[in-house]
Parts: sequence; C-alpha cells; structure tokens
Amino acid sequence: MSVTSRPAAVSFENRFAREFPEMAVAWRAEELPDPRLLVLNETLGTELGLDPSCLRGPEGVRFLTGQLLPSGSTPVAQAYAGHQFGGYSPRLGDGRALLLGEVVDATGHERDVHLKGSGRTPFARGGDGRATVGPMLREYVVSEAMHALGIPTTRSLAVVATGRSVPRETLLRGAVLTRVASSHLRVGSFQYARATGDLDLLRRLAEHAISRHHASATQAENRYLGLLQAVVEAQAELVARWMLVGFIHGVMNTDNMTISGETIDYGPCAFMEAFDPATVYSSIDVGGRYAYGNQPVIAQWNLARLAEALLPLLDPQEERAVDLATECVDTFSGQYHARWSGGMKLKLGVPDSLEDEVFAPLVAELLAVLQEDKVDHTSFFRSLGPAARGDAEASRGVFLQLPRFDAWLRRWLALHPDADLMERVNPVYIPRNHLVEEALAAASDGHLDPFEALLDAVTDPFHEHPGRERYAAAAPEGFGSYRTFCGT
Ligand code: AMP
Ligand code: MG
Repeated sequence: MSVTSRPAAVSFENRFAREFPEMAVAWRAEELPDPRLLVLNETLGTELGLDPSCLRGPEGVRFLTGQLLPSGSTPVAQAYAGHQFGGYSPRLGDGRALLLGEVVDATGHERDVHLKGSGRTPFARGGDGRATVGPMLREYVVSEAMHALGIPTTRSLAVVATGRSVPRETLLRGAVLTRVASSHLRVGSFQYARATGDLDLLRRLAEHAISRHHASATQAENRYLGLLQAVVEAQAELVARWMLVGFIHGVMNTDNMTISGETIDYGPCAFMEAFDPATVYSSIDVGGRYAYGNQPVIAQWNLARLAEALLPLLDPQEERAVDLATECVDTFSGQYHARWSGGMKLKLGVPDSLEDEVFAPLVAELLAVLQEDKVDHTSFFRSLGPAARGDAEASRGVFLQLPRFDAWLRRWLALHPDADLMERVNPVYIPRNHLVEEALAAASDGHLDPFEALLDAVTDPFHEHPGRERYAAAAPEGFGSYRTFCGT
C-alpha cells in the first residue's frame, strides 16, 4: 500500500508506538470494499491542519479509514486492562480500533488520531473488529454535542460507511469512526502496565501522562502522587459536568475512563429527561451500577483502581504508599461536590459566594420536587431564565405540586438570579434520545438530513433558534421506556 502525505499535509508522530512497544501492537486497518464518507467535521479537520476538501476526496476518505497512511504514522492497537462492571479483565486492548498516531494541532497541542471499527486486531478475542453506522454516528453526534456544551470529550472527525454488511441481530452497514483525543490513556492503561510487573514501564507511562496532560504534577513534592491528584481533580470536574447536564455515560468501566479527564467511549450513553438519580438506559446495566446518580461514586471507585496501579511509584514502602493513595482518592468527593455546587449555582444564576446553609437546602428541595413530579431536567433549567425575568409560566406549567414549586420559586427569586448567566450554562438543545434514534434510523436508510439537522441544533446548544422547537422538547409520551444498546 502506498504511503503518502497528500491528504494529510501534516506529519504524524508515532510517539506512543515508539515509546511503548510493550503496550502497542503494530497493525493495519482492514481493506474496505466501498468506503463512503457520511459526515466530516471540517472545523476539527482544519484545527488539525487537515484540508477539508482533500478529506472529502477519495484519498482523504482512504486516509480517514487507515487505508492510506500519512507520513510518520505507525498504526498500533493499544493494550489496556480494565474492570468491566466490577470484574477485572487483564487483557482488553483495542479489539477493533487503531491509533494512527499523534498530530500537533493549530494551538500546539498533541492530539491522537484514532480509528474505531477498523477491523480485528490481536486484542479482538471473539469480536469481529467492526462497527456499524448507527453507533458510530451516535458517538459522533453525542461527542460533538458534549464539546459544544463545554464538556471535555474526545472528538469526532468523520464517519465513513465501509460498504460491508456487518452481522449483528440483523445485517447492518459497517462504518469506521475517526476519533480525535488529547490521548487514549485510560485508567486501564495503568492497570495493564502495573500488571506486567515492569516498574520501568509503569514509570514511563506515568511520565508520558504527566507530559501530555498534567504538567502540574512536576511541581508536586511527589510527582506521581501529583499525577494521581491531577487525575482525581480532572475526573471530579468531568463527572460534575456530566451530572449538571444530565449525561449518563452508561458503561463507566476503568478502560472507559481517561487520564486526561475527557469523556471517552460513547456506547450506551444517553441524556436523562425526567430527573431521577436511578435513571439507567443501558440494556446491559441490569444492576444499575452506572445509573445517573451513581456516577460520582463509580468515578471514585475507578480512581481507587488507578491509585492501586500507581502504588509502587508513590512510595517504596507499601504501607506508606497505600496511605498516600487513600488520602488522595478520598479528596474526590469534596472536589466533586465543590465543582457540582459551583456549577449548580451557575445553573440557578445565584452568586458563587452564596452560603451553603442557604444554597444546599434550596437545591435539595428543587431536586426533590423535580424528581417527584418527573420534570424534564434540561427544559426545566432553561425555563428558569424567563422565570428570573418575571415570566415563570413555562417553569410552573410542568409541576403537579404547584404550591410547593411556587414556594420554592419565591425563595429563589428573592436571591435575584441572573438570567443571562443562566442562559450561558443551561442548554436549550441536547441530543435527546428520541431525536438521536430518529436521526440514526433515517441514516441507516441512507437519509442523512435528520442527522445533520440534529447535529446543527446540538452543536449550538445555548442559542434558541426559531424553527428548532422540536429539538428542545421532551420525548413524546409514546416514546416509552428508552433502552440503549452497547455500541457493538
Ligand atoms: P467497549 O465496550 O467499546 O469499551 O469495548 C470493550 C472491549 O471490547 C474493548 O477491548 C474493545 O476493543 C472490545 N470490542 C468491542 N467490540 C468489539 C468488536 N466488534 N470486535 C472486537 N473487539 C471489540
Ligand atoms: Mg472502551
């Protein structure tokens, strides 16, 4: 296969492949019978120094699917371990994905370019190495919506239909997603490195993570404890942001939690509609382990697994290392709560300085009534903007316990909430489950217009647009109890 730098005038690095041969298997994407570009993120392409018109051409599509390698790229499948639903798997790794390499973007940041659905690798176990159009478009639209909401996330550069039929419950159209991330280091990457027993590898991986994501650790007295602390903080921030917009990841296994603090691996994820901490959409999450309200606790559990992996670097004396790790992971709940509280103050338009004695009971009462009255989370918070300006009809209209909500409203209005502030953080448009399903169903029949219209709405989430009303409304009654399926 020819190697050219034409579609990607930028040169690729192969830093991970070079620095971590123990965790990278050189591999190639499988050939595709009839690749067709379904969606391209031109803005992101430009950020990476890639020319959108080249990417749309035949060579560009071959580049986006790993058929044509840019100069400097050494595609690899990355090894990692992970706890899946609490059970440990020592060898997961990229079973159907490849890291093409790293590029330096327009702002000087190193970004991974990665393929998902590019064929079986040595980590594929029983899997076929493939992905299908629906789940890849789903990752595309949800990740781009998250980015537009200001939430750290991997990004989506393109989805290409492969021209191959992929057997699932039925025959589905195959696809490859081209994903961009600040890295693909996961908690599971550290679990893998630790399990090899090679302390030098573990140390090099930690140094790599520090240099790519958490330079602050170099200022710490104990730099690896500094790294752990930085990941605890990044995850506390991330999960607080998820909770504030009602995002449910759905499969928070340790291999799906990044070191960078970006959201990764959009499988059975969904946005909550009626507020309820017990909300679960994933069909595989029968025990509700990854329910909306459990996400902070699970994040901390995952961070404890990271801490265990890092133990030998924290202190040569095991007991001392355990104490340091425990103390550090224990800061998660305070960090999380502070960030969630700060975010909730913005959502309610009240000053950050508002004392906890006033704010905590105000929020507790609001969440209780939202839950009891099964109120749509996103549209309710958005409706508080007009309420702060004196028009509370939309927000009042959704409560069964109206006197109770009115009492809450009076307490809140007495704090003089700032409507402009609120409208900068409370989105109008999120990728609502019924809209995502509708767009994916149309796309699987070859009609991409509904997908593009949804993408337009959710990538400009804070500005109301006339004509986009249906994107702001909760699911119709008939949509029923929604289930998401793992992105295989
Ligand atoms: P995920 O649930 O997407 O995070 O994937 C968990 C693990 O299963 C990872 O090691 C994936 O690479 C692997 N995997 C998922 N689907 C497939 C597939 N169709 N073929 C091969 N490996 C897969
Ligand atoms: Mg994964």
